[in-house]
Amino acid sequence: MRTIGLIGGMSVESTVPYYQQINRHVAERLGGLHSAPLLLYSVDFAEIATLQAADDWQQAGAVLANCAQALQRAGAEGLVLCTNTMHKVAPEIEAAVDIPFLHIVDITAAAVCAAGIDNVALLGTRFTMEQAFYRERLQSHGLNVMVPDVADRDCVHRVIFEELCCGRIEPASRQAFVDIVERLAQRGAQAVILGCTEIGLMLSAQDSPLPLFDTTALHARAAAEFVLADRLSTCTG
Ligand code: GLU
Repeated sequence: MRTIGLIGGMSVESTVPYYQQINRHVAERLGGLHSAPLLLYSVDFAEIATLQAADDWQQAGAVLANCAQALQRAGAEGLVLCTNTMHKVAPEIEAAVDIPFLHIVDITAAAVCAAGIDNVALLGTRFTMEQAFYRERLQSHGLNVMVPDVADRDCVHRVIFEELCCGRIEPASRQAFVDIVERLAQRGAQAVILGCTEIGLMLSAQDSPLPLFDTTALHARAAAEFVLADRLSTCTG
């Protein structure tokens, strides 16, 4: 198996499901007590969130590029950045290492396209919903992307940082997200990308009026497939 490196802690609440889901996929595929060779560099999220709020993406990129280099030195053969928002600095991270970077937008877009969906809504932090880096990369896969209106974007952003990243799941916030998804459906969205790695902790397919594409689940599966790739080609080849 190949060793995967995770840059996590953004937030801790969603890094745990990454760890668990990657290992479960590997165990399902290989059986028995198999688990993933995995390295985790978990950052202090307060430091990163302060840089986000200060619009200092250059420094945030430098911090995460250092993490990526440390993981490569420690033996990681591929990298997973366990947050959508910080993919804003994916180019800086990719430039700092020689190993593959599993980009969350490409993996998510592939799943949405494979489902035959053209018009997709995006929920995430304000950075993810409002800045070009995420939306334009989705659009480059041929998708039409819509985001909630400004009041709903404020709600989603606040719930992510004040509740979900702190481990709080509030039924009132779940209902607010369901209402937001309903409004997106009325505007023509066929599905919703949970473009924040914590939203799936609160909003599940059973709650939602539209199909959901959970970036955490999709990214973790892709990470497991990366881990297994040499093993499976040996088996089949
Ligand atoms: N984990 C979240 C995301 O996927 C938000 C935390 C962050 O700003 O990195 O965007």
